[in-house]
Amino acid sequence: MFPKSYAILMLILMIGLNRSSAQSIYGTVTELRCKDKISGVLVQLRDSRSNVIDSMTTNTNGQFNLKLKSRDKYSILLTCEGYDGPLFTNISIATDTSINLRIKKACSYINSSAAPVCPICHMSDQVIPIEYGLIKSRPGDGAGKKYMLGGCLVSDCDPHWYCKRDKRAL
Ligand SMILES: [Zn+2]
Repeated sequence: MFPKSYAILMLILMIGLNRSSAQSIYGTVTELRCKDKISGVLVQLRDSRSNVIDSMTTNTNGQFNLKLKSRDKYSILLTCEGYDGPLFTNISIATDTSINLRIKKACSYINSSAAPVCPICHMSDQVIPIEYGLIKSRPGDGAGKKYMLGGCLVSDCDPHWYCKRDKRAL
Protein backbone atom coordinates (compact mmCIF):
# COMPACT_ATOMS: atom_id res chain seq x y z
CA MET A 1 0.00 0.00 0.00
CA PHE A 2 1.36 3.34 -0.94
CA PRO A 3 1.36 5.92 1.79
CA LYS A 4 -1.61 8.22 1.44
CA SER A 5 -0.21 11.43 1.81
CA TYR A 6 0.72 14.84 1.21
CA ALA A 7 4.09 13.47 0.29
CA ILE A 8 3.06 13.11 -3.30
CA LEU A 9 1.72 16.59 -3.43
CA MET A 10 4.24 18.38 -5.45
CA LEU A 11 5.01 21.95 -5.25
CA ILE A 12 6.15 23.10 -8.61
CA LEU A 13 7.93 26.31 -8.11
CA MET A 14 8.65 28.52 -10.98
CA ILE A 15 10.23 31.57 -9.62
CA GLY A 16 10.33 34.42 -12.00
CA LEU A 17 12.28 37.33 -10.74
CA ASN A 18 11.71 40.75 -12.06
CA ARG A 19 12.46 44.22 -10.92
CA SER A 20 8.93 45.44 -10.31
CA SER A 21 8.51 47.20 -7.00
CA ALA A 22 5.01 45.85 -6.40
CA GLN A 23 5.55 42.59 -4.66
CA SER A 24 3.09 39.85 -5.24
CA ILE A 25 2.82 36.14 -5.53
CA TYR A 26 0.59 34.89 -8.27
CA GLY A 27 -0.08 31.66 -10.04
CA THR A 28 -2.50 28.88 -10.75
CA VAL A 29 -4.00 26.03 -8.75
CA THR A 30 -4.39 22.81 -10.72
CA GLU A 31 -5.54 19.29 -9.92
CA LEU A 32 -2.64 16.96 -9.24
CA ARG A 33 -3.41 14.28 -11.81
CA CYS A 34 -5.65 15.70 -14.52
CA LYS A 35 -4.14 19.16 -14.25
CA ASP A 36 -7.53 20.87 -14.50
CA LYS A 37 -7.48 24.43 -13.28
CA ILE A 38 -9.52 24.75 -10.10
CA SER A 39 -11.65 27.76 -9.30
CA GLY A 40 -13.01 28.65 -5.89
CA VAL A 41 -9.95 27.56 -3.94
CA LEU A 42 -9.26 29.73 -0.92
CA VAL A 43 -5.57 30.62 -1.08
CA GLN A 44 -4.08 32.03 2.10
CA LEU A 45 -0.63 33.53 2.27
CA ARG A 46 0.83 33.33 5.77
CA ASP A 47 4.03 34.72 7.12
CA SER A 48 6.53 32.87 9.29
CA ARG A 49 4.41 33.57 12.37
CA SER A 50 1.31 32.12 10.67
CA ASN A 51 -0.41 35.47 10.32
CA VAL A 52 -2.56 35.65 7.23
CA ILE A 53 -1.02 38.34 5.04
CA ASP A 54 -3.41 38.12 2.15
CA SER A 55 -5.99 35.72 0.81
CA MET A 56 -8.34 35.27 -2.12
CA THR A 57 -10.23 32.56 -3.93
CA THR A 58 -9.03 31.45 -7.33
CA ASN A 59 -10.92 32.72 -10.37
CA THR A 60 -12.44 30.59 -13.11
CA ASN A 61 -8.97 30.02 -14.55
CA GLY A 62 -7.66 28.82 -11.21
CA GLN A 63 -5.58 31.95 -10.82
CA PHE A 64 -4.74 33.94 -7.73
CA ASN A 65 -2.68 37.01 -6.98
CA LEU A 66 -1.62 37.87 -3.44
CA LYS A 67 0.24 40.85 -2.08
CA LEU A 68 3.39 40.58 -0.02
CA LYS A 69 4.42 42.88 2.76
CA SER A 70 8.06 42.05 3.08
CA ARG A 71 10.72 39.53 2.33
CA ASP A 72 9.98 36.50 4.44
CA LYS A 73 9.50 32.78 4.43
CA TYR A 74 5.86 32.27 3.65
CA SER A 75 3.46 29.40 3.68
CA ILE A 76 0.44 28.97 1.47
CA LEU A 77 -2.65 27.12 2.61
CA LEU A 78 -5.16 25.92 0.03
CA THR A 79 -8.70 25.18 1.13
CA CYS A 80 -11.40 23.79 -1.16
CA GLU A 81 -14.25 21.42 -0.48
CA GLY A 82 -13.63 18.02 -2.02
CA TYR A 83 -9.89 18.47 -2.02
CA ASP A 84 -7.22 17.82 0.55
CA GLY A 85 -6.12 21.12 1.94
CA PRO A 86 -2.37 21.14 1.51
CA LEU A 87 -0.09 23.54 3.26
CA PHE A 88 3.02 24.53 1.34
CA THR A 89 5.64 25.80 3.73
CA ASN A 90 8.95 27.56 3.69
CA ILE A 91 8.53 29.40 0.46
CA SER A 92 11.06 32.15 0.18
CA ILE A 93 9.55 35.14 -1.49
CA ALA A 94 11.47 38.33 -1.93
CA THR A 95 10.01 39.76 -5.09
CA ASP A 96 7.27 39.08 -7.59
CA THR A 97 6.93 35.36 -7.73
CA SER A 98 5.00 33.07 -9.98
CA ILE A 99 4.00 29.77 -8.45
CA ASN A 100 1.94 26.82 -9.63
CA LEU A 101 0.28 24.79 -6.92
CA ARG A 102 -1.18 21.34 -7.29
CA ILE A 103 -3.97 20.08 -5.13
CA LYS A 104 -5.27 16.56 -4.80
CA LYS A 105 -8.89 15.41 -4.83
CA ALA A 106 -9.77 14.27 -1.35
CA CYS A 107 -10.20 10.55 -0.83
CA SER A 108 -13.80 10.07 0.28
CA TYR A 109 -13.40 6.51 1.55
CA ILE A 110 -13.48 5.84 5.26
CA ASN A 111 -10.09 4.89 6.64
CA SER A 112 -10.62 3.44 10.08
CA SER A 113 -9.20 0.41 11.85
CA ALA A 114 -12.61 -0.79 13.08
CA ALA A 115 -15.70 -1.41 10.95
CA PRO A 116 -17.32 1.98 10.35
CA VAL A 117 -21.02 2.73 10.41
CA CYS A 118 -22.37 2.59 6.87
CA PRO A 119 -23.61 6.05 5.86
CA ILE A 120 -26.53 4.49 3.95
CA CYS A 121 -28.04 1.99 6.39
CA HIS A 122 -26.48 3.61 9.47
CA MET A 123 -25.35 0.24 10.79
CA SER A 124 -22.04 -1.55 10.90
CA ASP A 125 -23.18 -5.16 11.29
CA GLN A 126 -22.90 -5.89 7.56
CA VAL A 127 -19.70 -3.94 7.04
CA ILE A 128 -16.72 -6.11 6.18
CA PRO A 129 -13.13 -5.23 5.38
CA ILE A 130 -11.80 -5.19 1.83
CA GLU A 131 -8.54 -7.09 1.49
CA TYR A 132 -6.01 -6.29 -1.21
CA GLY A 133 -3.32 -8.41 -2.73
CA LEU A 134 -3.04 -12.16 -3.11
CA ILE A 135 -5.03 -13.81 -0.38
CA LYS A 136 -5.16 -17.52 0.29
CA SER A 137 -8.51 -18.89 1.25
CA ARG A 138 -9.27 -18.66 4.92
CA PRO A 139 -12.02 -19.69 7.20
CA GLY A 140 -14.89 -17.41 6.35
CA ASP A 141 -14.78 -17.86 2.58
CA GLY A 142 -18.07 -18.59 0.94
CA ALA A 143 -21.55 -17.44 1.74
CA GLY A 144 -20.79 -15.98 5.11
CA LYS A 145 -17.57 -14.45 3.99
CA LYS A 146 -15.91 -12.04 6.31
CA TYR A 147 -14.03 -9.95 3.82
CA MET A 148 -14.21 -8.68 0.30
CA LEU A 149 -11.45 -9.05 -2.26
CA GLY A 150 -10.19 -5.75 -3.54
CA GLY A 151 -7.75 -7.06 -6.14
CA CYS A 152 -4.08 -6.44 -6.46
CA LEU A 153 -3.99 -2.93 -7.81
CA VAL A 154 -3.79 -0.40 -5.06
CA SER A 155 -3.90 3.34 -5.47
CA ASP A 156 -3.63 6.02 -2.86
CA CYS A 157 -7.41 6.18 -2.59
CA ASP A 158 -9.03 2.79 -2.16
CA PRO A 159 -11.97 1.71 -0.05
CA HIS A 160 -11.17 -0.37 3.02
CA TRP A 161 -14.73 -1.31 3.98
CA TYR A 162 -17.76 -2.71 2.19
CA CYS A 163 -21.37 -2.81 3.31
CA LYS A 164 -22.92 -6.11 2.23
CA ARG A 165 -26.43 -4.80 2.85
CA ASP A 166 -26.06 -1.88 0.47
CA LYS A 167 -23.40 -3.49 -1.74
CA ARG A 168 -21.40 -0.34 -1.42
CA ALA A 169 -17.72 0.32 -0.83
CA LEU A 170 -17.42 2.84 1.94
ZN1 LIG B 1 -25.11 -0.18 4.62
